[in-house]
Amino acid sequence: MRDQIIDILKHEALWAGDFLVLPEGSQPTVEKTPACAMHLPTHSVEADADSPEQILDTIREEIGDCKRCPLFNTRANIVFGEGNPNAIIMFVGEAPGAVEDRTGKPFVGPAGRLFTDIVEKGMGLKRSDVYIANILKCRPPGNRDPLPDEIAECIGFLKEQILAIRPEVIIALGRIAAQNLLEIKTPISRLRGNLKEFMGIKVMPTYHPSYLLQNPSKKRDVWEDIKKVLKYLGLPIPQPQR
Ligand code: SF4
Repeated sequence: MRDQIIDILKHEALWAGDFLVLPEGSQPTVEKTPACAMHLPTHSVEADADSPEQILDTIREEIGDCKRCPLFNTRANIVFGEGNPNAIIMFVGEAPGAVEDRTGKPFVGPAGRLFTDIVEKGMGLKRSDVYIANILKCRPPGNRDPLPDEIAECIGFLKEQILAIRPEVIIALGRIAAQNLLEIKTPISRLRGNLKEFMGIKVMPTYHPSYLLQNPSKKRDVWEDIKKVLKYLGLPIPQPQR
């Protein structure tokens, strides 16, 4: 009981009461259901029997030591993406930051820690249950916004990853991810909270964890968006422990 109370206090300190902790042992099992494939487009690599993992490996090979846009000049590592190849939830962010560039892993800097809390403490899932990727695979210098030409060169790889994984829901983190997936210019403040569709897959736009670090009051909005995703998927919505 004491550990649970400490967990709750830590959690509430982090989320200012906006996100809730699942009781230990009550994390939902996340399995892809056959229904998830029903509304998805046919992928060209579907004809063979390659698993999502094998297809992802092929995409990574295709990227190689990519020099398709000028970002190869300044990157340390290509950040391909990581997670469960059979995930029903996929997160798409904007581009690697400094720590991601250094490590080659997505969402591992300060915003990445907040992201992990959203998944594990907020949604009650494991980070390894979901798949994480970005619109760009190389870091724009100084974390500037990706340029249209860079996105045009790179986004095809992300689309291939999405088709390989075939998630039931994509959570688009931030303006760049949401606007480029949905190919619209609507501000993220108006996009968020409404399920959209991309390649036959539901997309929930919400704020990026980096933005939440600067604007903690927006965590409540993100939690509302996350709850809609959990409800759509039929997953349990965490309740506060009393
Ligand atoms: S951002 Fe994408 S297109 Fe540009 S160099 Fe990196 S992997 Fe290639």
